[in-house]
Amino acid sequence: MMNANKPIIYMDNNATTAIAPEVLEAMLPYLQEYYGNPSSMYDFATHSSSAMKKARGQVAALIGATPEEIVFTSCGTESDSTAIFSALRRYPEKNHIVTTRVEHPAVKNLCDNIENLTGRKYHITHLQVSADGTLDMQQYKDSLTDDTAIVSVMWANNETGVLFPVEEMARIANERGILFHTDAVQAVGKIPINLKETAIDYLALSGHKLHAPKGIGVLYVRKGTPYMPFLSGGHQEQGRRGGTENVASIVALGRACELAVANMQEENTRVRALRDKLENGLLASIPKALLNGHKTMRLPNTANISFEYVEGEAILLHLNQHHICASSGSACTSGSLEPSHVLRAMGVPFTAAHGSIRFSLSPYNTEAEVDTVLEVLPKIIANLRNLSPFWEENS
Ligand code: PLP
Repeated sequence: MMNANKPIIYMDNNATTAIAPEVLEAMLPYLQEYYGNPSSMYDFATHSSSAMKKARGQVAALIGATPEEIVFTSCGTESDSTAIFSALRRYPEKNHIVTTRVEHPAVKNLCDNIENLTGRKYHITHLQVSADGTLDMQQYKDSLTDDTAIVSVMWANNETGVLFPVEEMARIANERGILFHTDAVQAVGKIPINLKETAIDYLALSGHKLHAPKGIGVLYVRKGTPYMPFLSGGHQEQGRRGGTENVASIVALGRACELAVANMQEENTRVRALRDKLENGLLASIPKALLNGHKTMRLPNTANISFEYVEGEAILLHLNQHHICASSGSACTSGSLEPSHVLRAMGVPFTAAHGSIRFSLSPYNTEAEVDTVLEVLPKIIANLRNLSPFWEENS
């Protein structure tokens, strides 16, 4: 039986993060005292509208944007959809989209279903990745045509943490007059971003990946870039997104961004050291363990490791017994365990893709937690392999 009072070891921060105490403190007054609608005219509502204005500036400062370029949305998924549909509507005569094989479902499923969603046929180029999860820039350059309406490439991969050279890719698209969107949901708050120095037209981010609550996102839209509201309605967000603003969560996101500006550099150094200790320790102590993704061109917090001849889901269940939270690289679809599309695109062998585990750390993790995982996981893998006929055959 699990001890319900034992503290958890949370290493699944690419799935979602804890709300930072400073962030919670900042947002609470806007759930309690200052509940006015920011669009209302009386003084009481200016608490809400001023707080939103401040938050807009805080978000802009984290990514090197101006406050006018920030549109608050409900999540990263909405931001991705808004960007892509804006470009497609702006260029109805263009029928080509460039993206990658390893996007998050927020972009992948949108592109896969684009015909149903728009009633139009699009040709989609899915850029390949190599074994370490990186892109072939020549393939990218060759893929762009006069018919391309938009390029949508993630900044950091949620499963492996691999970083794509989106700044260079945006410059190349821009030279051809093609709009460039990046899903930066995993990158914002984890790596420095200065949009002023790039040609990126749209960027999506999400509060719950950087210690703000779930249900708040942002779409950055470069000044002068084509834009169409995804949600039509009131005049909120200067007519760019209908719906009464989620003031408390906007305040929270602003504070989270302010904290990231102040602490990112120092926290990254610490998180990277913890991640490296975990990763190196597991790779050294567990036979047939392989790192998925480029060793250095990666987020500092993410380690995706395959343990051959074991099921990821089984590993997760055993880790759960020790109150350790992580993710596996396979999804249970239709009763069968499908290795993730990201690992398949990288050509990770079936036996390894099935046994992949993603650890994603945050500044709240400690060395003692890493030590616990290093002690517990080798035993779990050894026990599971002892039960596996495939291990016996292949060891
Ligand atoms: N894009 C990436 C890379 C993500 O990792 C996620 C969430 O996991 C999303 C988009 C979707 O963000 P949200 O949950 O805010 O819709």
